[in-house]
Amino acid sequence: MGKLDGRVVLVTGAARGQGEQEARLFAAEGAKVVVADVLDGKGEALAKELGAGALYVHLDVRREDDWRAAVAVAKGAYGRIDGLVNNAGILRFNKLVNTPLEEFQQVVQVNQVGVFLGIRTVAPEIAGAGGGTIVNTASYTGVTGMAYVGAYSATKHAIVGLTRVAALELAGKGIRVNAVCPGAIDTAMTNPAQLDPDADPEKAAKALDEYYRKLVPLGRVGKPEEVARLALFLTCDDSSYITGQPFVIDGGWLAGVSVV
Ligand code: NAD
Repeated sequence: MGKLDGRVVLVTGAARGQGEQEARLFAAEGAKVVVADVLDGKGEALAKELGAGALYVHLDVRREDDWRAAVAVAKGAYGRIDGLVNNAGILRFNKLVNTPLEEFQQVVQVNQVGVFLGIRTVAPEIAGAGGGTIVNTASYTGVTGMAYVGAYSATKHAIVGLTRVAALELAGKGIRVNAVCPGAIDTAMTNPAQLDPDADPEKAAKALDEYYRKLVPLGRVGKPEEVARLALFLTCDDSSYITGQPFVIDGGWLAGVSVV
């Protein structure tokens, strides 16, 4: 028996990285997964691979119309929505004083407005299904600051706030809302070599690991599958008495100052 048997879960940014691993794990645990992204080719291929347990929808999280259409497709196919994972996000590196307004707004639109729209559009559907879960994707930069990612860090702090408020407002509807706060995870976001068809994936992963070995007490970068397991915990009944909480998953990075 799977931990998500019979549940319908929509995952944004699910075509690659952490979202892809969440979609794969949730489907393996019995969920019907709505794979949502703007990367149509990759998303469609993933849904096809997952078979009867998944479908793909084009969903740009910044667009209200896309959210409404995605909900209609999910309900048309499965009749209900029990869970949402707000995973889509973008990262931009810049000093605050050098950040163009357009860049700051772009990050806010995807990372923060996208999560707000997701909660606002999907929560009533989850309530209509008798309750369920929302998992938002913040970051370790959502609970502490990090230089050169000001716009990103600001949006991730906002997601922790949105998570708490949504948990308070939706508890009465049977909806639990939590957030994952990943540290450095080996995806295209931290490891752009993953986007280069000519790059050697083993070499790229090793270079990243070497960098983080010094910073992270557990001595390595995290795997997207590890974040997916936390998202699964927060989506299934194992976490039935947990709501409104940010969960840091960072190999101990934020535990304190390591003496080396
Ligand atoms: P990724 O870049 O591999 O995946 C991000 C996904 O979001 C992609 O599939 C992309 O197409 C999608 N996306 C981007 N803009 C979108 C939009 N407007 N609408 C819909 N989808 C959109 O990176 P990832 O590491 O898998 O990131 C997943 C989440 O984890 C993000 O919210 C990110 O901020 C967060 N995060 C990542 C790390 C890390 O180290 N990789 C650390 C902390 C938090």
